[in-house]
Amino acid sequence: MIEVCVLERCFLCGFDRRFGPNAYRARYCKSWDVIICNVCRNSLADGIVPTPVLLDRLASLGIEPKPNARGLIDIPD
Ligand SMILES: [Zn+2]
Repeated sequence: MIEVCVLERCFLCGFDRRFGPNAYRARYCKSWDVIICNVCRNSLADGIVPTPVLLDRLASLGIEPKPNARGLIDIPD
């Protein structure tokens, strides 16, 4: 049986990560309509620095960036 897997590019780090089946090293972020890898999710658990790329993305989706207590943007589920 051929196992089909997809590589998806992480929105934050730009690395291609395996995205199913059986191994999900990245997760779809529905609110932002992007793929975010598990490495970024773990290392950026406190939030993301609001870069121009991120702010552009949120603006294009009509999302108002809401910095957390550290001034960082939380990654939504
Ligand atoms: Zn990443």
